Amino acid sequence: MTDAAAAPPETRRSRLVVLAGPTAVGKGSVAADVRRSHPEVWISVSATTRAPRPGEQDGVHYWFVDDDQFDAMIERGDLLEWAVVHKAARYGTPRQPVEQVLAEGRSALLEIDLQGARQVRETMAEALFVFLKPPSWDELVRRLVGRGTETEEERERRLVTAREELAAEAEFDVAIVNHEVHAAAEDLVALMLQSPTTL
Ligand code: 5GP
Repeated sequence: MTDAAAAPPETRRSRLVVLAGPTAVGKGSVAADVRRSHPEVWISVSATTRAPRPGEQDGVHYWFVDDDQFDAMIERGDLLEWAVVHKAARYGTPRQPVEQVLAEGRSALLEIDLQGARQVRETMAEALFVFLKPPSWDELVRRLVGRGTETEEERERRLVTAREELAAEAEFDVAIVNHEVHAAAEDLVALMLQSPTTL
């Protein structure tokens, strides 16, 4: 068995890891936990047209842009992938920082929705696709309601999306069940370490 962490630099390969899963499964929380516990893992900061939630900082949680700025990013080819999520706002992954990190031989983590993951598969099929899933449907609903950050209408819309998204597990290389955020984050980092790469 290869010990990736101990491999000499010339045998290391950079790798793109895509974390997706249904809405409210906890992707954002898992990514935040990885950011806290594993600062060596580079995590992409997406651009979005949605308004910041309380406490969210530009350039840290997202790049908050308006529609014209997002259009310009698309036109310039600045986005690795982008999608309209929950029929509400556009989200996209800035291409340049990801390419730079991979060129440096480090791994990059994208936390994106299913549509975005499918686009990345088209262009970077060698990436590792990780599906984060809830312990059950009831638990997913409980988390969505419990979060309390969305309106009733918004919640309904997200539940419809979530049902479709849950069915997509088979498209992924591996699944992690999010019983508890920190444990799921550690599972994710362990997977990244198992790959023939370093972080
Ligand atoms: P939220 O508005 O709750 O922060 O995120 C809503 C959804 O957008 C989440 O499912 C999240 O994974 C997704 N998302 C965040 N950034 C991106 C991105 O750059 N591209 C795509 N396709 N989805 C994203």
